[in-house]
Amino acid sequence: MVAASRAGPIPVTSRTVTPSRADVNSCLLPACQDSCRVLIQSVTASHSSSDALYRIILMDGFRHWFPYPPMAGMPELRQAIVDKVAALYGTRFDVESEVTVTAGATQAILTAIAAFVRPGDEVIVFAPVYDSYVPAIETVGGKALFAQLKFPDYAPDWAQVAQLITPRTRMIIVNSPHNPTGSLLTAVDLEKLAESVRGSDIVVLSDEVYEHILFDGERHASLCGHPELAPRGIVVSSFGKTYHITGWKIGYVVGPAALMAEFRKVHQFNVFTVHGPSQLALADYMQDASRHLKLAAFYEEKRDFFRALLAETPFELLPCRGTYFQLASYKAISDLPDRAFAEWLTREVGVAVIPVSVFYGDGRDDCVVRFCFAKKEETLVAAGERLRRL
Ligand code: PMP
Repeated sequence: MVAASRAGPIPVTSRTVTPSRADVNSCLLPACQDSCRVLIQSVTASHSSSDALYRIILMDGFRHWFPYPPMAGMPELRQAIVDKVAALYGTRFDVESEVTVTAGATQAILTAIAAFVRPGDEVIVFAPVYDSYVPAIETVGGKALFAQLKFPDYAPDWAQVAQLITPRTRMIIVNSPHNPTGSLLTAVDLEKLAESVRGSDIVVLSDEVYEHILFDGERHASLCGHPELAPRGIVVSSFGKTYHITGWKIGYVVGPAALMAEFRKVHQFNVFTVHGPSQLALADYMQDASRHLKLAAFYEEKRDFFRALLAETPFELLPCRGTYFQLASYKAISDLPDRAFAEWLTREVGVAVIPVSVFYGDGRDDCVVRFCFAKKEETLVAAGERLRRL
């Protein structure tokens, strides 16, 4: 890994784990299964990816006879990833030892946690927290400690993080741009994070699946570009978010060779390798950088369109600096708890949203719900019409 400077290697260990599973993502499923709902709480196949991607996978990808791809991923795709990361963040990872193609970000996150967290280890996460982290931590016997992203701007409190760090802290998980809040970590936040972990063996897991979706000219502060954090980080990204192919379930991680070697010890036995034709198609598709560079403008237009629609409703909009999620307070509409409000909105109004309390370990409820605007314009308009009547 060629970066501006380098911290010492992070000590690593490897032992076996006992799986368990929790599901915090299904609270609205029954209400959403009725097909007359305007599904606006999560991404559906609402805008098609470029035809080019499908042509490549059909013509080139499947034409090859395909044995198992290499465990770390097809060399063509690893090269394309390394080139993209170097162009964007200035750090050139080694194609052989510092990048691994994964079956989406969810697998990457669980694999990274299983590689580094042992029973009794503590992992600091920020609440509201993306739903897969805590079940993954608990699956391997770790303990999640919650730092708060402060409502309503959802900025991290680094003094609180400092208080949560103990000799048992093994990992800190950050996510920027952030699901569900649409908030961002800034360069200053990365400095504070670097200060927090300096002198420890804490591994930083950085979930950057929305790395290309930032608005109003903001630049993504990637862990990859931070000279002190990149050498102690595993950075996760997802092609699903970047190329509108969430159902393909393909992503990647980059990180220093010592950490990547541990990551691959787990990857080898929970996935081994990822669908080959998709990898070749993506390697080809990535050659045109405008495809990821134009994503922010694409979603910024959708965000502005959707916010204009919501401005005509009683919802109070929170800032949305990145991702395709829009938070809104419904205090002017109802005093129901957010789960009940989300269910009512889904069943009675026909617009499905996610209650933000499900992203908190303690169920904290600020009367805020999450909309997803990664939708066709007509879907957003239909939602706007229903919400205007509230
Ligand atoms: N991290 C975050 C913050 C996400 O929002 C998502 C998808 N909702 C994932 C990880 C998982 O991505 P993938 O579909 O590639 O597994």
